[in-house]
Amino acid sequence: MAVKVAEEWLNACSGCEISIVDLGERLLAVLDLVEFVHIPVLLDHKYYGQLGEGKHINIPEATVGIISGSIRNHEHLEVAEEMRRKCQIIIALGTCATHGGIPALANSYRNQEILDRYYHTETTDKVDEYPSEGIPHLLDSVYALDEKIKVDIYLPGCAPHPDQVFAALAGLLAGELPKLPDRSVCDQCPTVREGKGQVKQLRRFLEAPHYGAPDEPIDKMRCLLEQGFLCMGSVTKAGCGGDKIVPRCIAARVPCRGCYGPVQHDGNQLLQMLNALASNGIDIHSLPDYVSLLRFSGAHKLLRPGHKQKEA
Ligand code: SF4
Ligand code: SF4
Ligand code: SF4
Repeated sequence: MAVKVAEEWLNACSGCEISIVDLGERLLAVLDLVEFVHIPVLLDHKYYGQLGEGKHINIPEATVGIISGSIRNHEHLEVAEEMRRKCQIIIALGTCATHGGIPALANSYRNQEILDRYYHTETTDKVDEYPSEGIPHLLDSVYALDEKIKVDIYLPGCAPHPDQVFAALAGLLAGELPKLPDRSVCDQCPTVREGKGQVKQLRRFLEAPHYGAPDEPIDKMRCLLEQGFLCMGSVTKAGCGGDKIVPRCIAARVPCRGCYGPVQHDGNQLLQMLNALASNGIDIHSLPDYVSLLRFSGAHKLLRPGHKQKEA
């Protein structure tokens, strides 16, 4: 009998759902074994019944519940809680769900500041009162899923690599609870490390032409951090290269920005990266701003109002 799966997207961009579609032909094999009973990105489902007669959000029961996106407002919270009630196993899909992701950068501002900025810019009409009717109320912060409901499996990544999505689904269908190893992007990076670099100040990536010629093999290129670029590989969970292993940005000769979140679930990429810079002899005051070190993992109360970007 097919395994019932429910999928939901909360404060999300749908990139994680694209990862599911990017399974390609493997998706056909998965679809032979699972039945999607709820997946708003593909199938319309009326939360409150076909005629809107229900009083509470209603999602069908499923064995596996996949949730992408963070929790930003009361509707997200209600949907997440209903998924938890109806699904035996909950997978947090993508770094928004596991660590707040890009949306959690908002946690360095109070809601009032965000609304003021949004409604009182040059490009929007100024309003005396912000719209509120029919709009879910904002929570005080952007939350990762496990701050509000119990999560069984974490699949970080912005977006998660389809190989990992497939491995997780295949594992579950075989009756196993998959867990990604606590390894870092550096552990899977083939670049050459010679020890502490000569650079004392961080260099702006786009201004520097010395990060490796396009035809130079990646395993001959010197580590980008040792060259003085802000590469967050040492504080970021491995896996973005999927079965090909070489981390995606490194394969493109671009520094890692940390999109898989911390190596260990409760790690702090900001503090760990400051340590990594210091141990490489790089002056941390040359960082353009500190907040961006948490650009993918600002939930779990790591980013709070007052953590503002450095003024230019
Ligand atoms: S983790 Fe990335 S791809 Fe997934 S919903 Fe968040 S922003 Fe989009
Ligand atoms: S810091 Fe970046 S370039 Fe250097 S080893 Fe780690 S991932 Fe590779
Ligand atoms: S190298 Fe870093 S930023 Fe790039 S995809 Fe991998 S984890 Fe994400």
